[in-house]
Amino acid sequence: ERHEAQAAAAAPVVLPDGRRVEVRANVASVAEARAAREAGADGVGLLRTELMFLDRAELPGEEEQAAGLAAVFAALDGAPVVVRTLDVGGDKQLPALRLDPVRHGFLGERGLRHGLAHPEVLRTQVRAVLRAAASTASEVALMAPMVTFADEAQAFRDVVERAGAELQAEGAAYALPSALGVMVEVPAAALAVDELAAVVDFVSVGTNDLVQYLVAAERTLPEVAGLYRPDATAVWRTLEQVVAGARRGGCRVAVCGELAGDPETAARLVALGVDELSMAPVSVAAVKAALRP
Ligand code: PEP
Ligand code: MG
Repeated sequence: ERHEAQAAAAAPVVLPDGRRVEVRANVASVAEARAAREAGADGVGLLRTELMFLDRAELPGEEEQAAGLAAVFAALDGAPVVVRTLDVGGDKQLPALRLDPVRHGFLGERGLRHGLAHPEVLRTQVRAVLRAAASTASEVALMAPMVTFADEAQAFRDVVERAGAELQAEGAAYALPSALGVMVEVPAAALAVDELAAVVDFVSVGTNDLVQYLVAAERTLPEVAGLYRPDATAVWRTLEQVVAGARRGGCRVAVCGELAGDPETAARLVALGVDELSMAPVSVAAVKAALRP
């Protein structure tokens, strides 16, 4: 019985017009990757890599990162995955990096900003992803968090291409990402997605952060929790702009914030033209059911 329910949930969502909507899961560990498959997710739309770095005095090296990623990929049975590069700073402080909470706070050097300022950290992780991608049947896409401008997206692309060239020269087994993307979490990025789309293959909207930046209320502060409103008019006008910009730029658009896990909201996002939703594994079955014609 459980297998039947699982198989039903695993069927893809196809809209009456023939458009397929990817319903994927956000995961951060092997256990969550398994849960995603069991929940019937079409893949992983956001692999948060920070957890693999927690509780460590030093950052893990390339080999260890590659092995950790390979273990997550193995749990996916060939389903596609989007790996996100390290999203440090803001609400995600890693002891190994000893980051200053203001300089690396929500408006500071976080996400890709940190990666570009600390090239060795980013390079090591990207090499690990490319190496792990060589030994899996899953399509492995790669995306960067907290991007504001197209030149940052280009710098990210350069890092990935350079890592591929290095591995090639070393004779190592590697695979380039099936697609390269950036998260849209900053209002300036949301309103100029067409500029990002000229550089990347897809964008994934991180509404958890996008909402906090639009309403200027930190996502972690109970004092301003009442202002943190994902249903705000400004949020939905911005989402409309993102989809329109992605269409103009010819790139795919996903939403991977918590918003996507609510069935009614998910339907609203799909009506806007979003191609893919990614959410906590527990939300997958209900969202798929709500989206089916
Ligand atoms: C987001 O900001 O919406 C997101 C998906 O990323 P995180 O919650 O990890 O910041
Ligand atoms: Mg975020």
